[in-house]
Amino acid sequence: MIVLLKPRPWWAFFMPQGVWFTISPCIYYPRTFTNAVAALNRIEIIQHELVHVSQQQCHSRFSWLAKYFYSRSFRLQMEVAAIARECYQFHEDTKWVNATIDGYADALYGWGYFHAASSKQNAKDLITAALKRLIMENTMRMPLGTHVSADNKTATLEVL
Ligand SMILES: [Zn+2]
Repeated sequence: MIVLLKPRPWWAFFMPQGVWFTISPCIYYPRTFTNAVAALNRIEIIQHELVHVSQQQCHSRFSWLAKYFYSRSFRLQMEVAAIARECYQFHEDTKWVNATIDGYADALYGWGYFHAASSKQNAKDLITAALKRLIMENTMRMPLGTHVSADNKTATLEVL
């Protein structure tokens, strides 16, 4: 499958500045990155967004988006899977993993993800359990190839 990494479009003006988001087959990186090469350096976030790409492929993009906005439990489930995959990228760095899980657990309980989790601890437990499953599976999914456009703004990722 081909996934496009693109700068945030003009119509996403209502979203907070630093937010990445995915509408399959596109991953949009924040304007704080000057180009796609800089965005590609954040491989852990790319891994997170690639999980959303495959979730949207399974559920169909628009029903995924609708459920994501209307259902707290669906939003939580989708984010826990993506965050665990993000943490898996550098899972041997315990300090980084703990800080990342802590930050996301706060956001999942708070406004960041519109109170998807019922408590911070609940979010932490779910992410930790999902990460443990990934560590047991032991599969690192990397994009097979990447190609950056001539203006450096868009990257094409080939993924399984
Ligand atoms: Zn996400």
